[in-house]
Amino acid sequence: MILNYTNVCNVRCHFCAFYRTGTESDAYTMTREQVLERISLFYDRYGIRQLLIQGGA
Ligand code: SF4
Repeated sequence: MILNYTNVCNVRCHFCAFYRTGTESDAYTMTREQVLERISLFYDRYGIRQLLIQGGA
């Protein structure tokens, strides 16, 4: 499973279409509870064995 806990990033690489500055309507940062809920859901549903956590900087 790859978990992107936020798409807000201040690095702003020129090639990146993923990042948001934080003011856009689709900018998001998950809470700790949302992160745990998502991991639990994927574990229960898909039996995930690996977790890669990615996010902005
Ligand atoms: S999310 Fe990663 S690739 Fe995109 S601007 Fe931030 S550091 Fe660069």
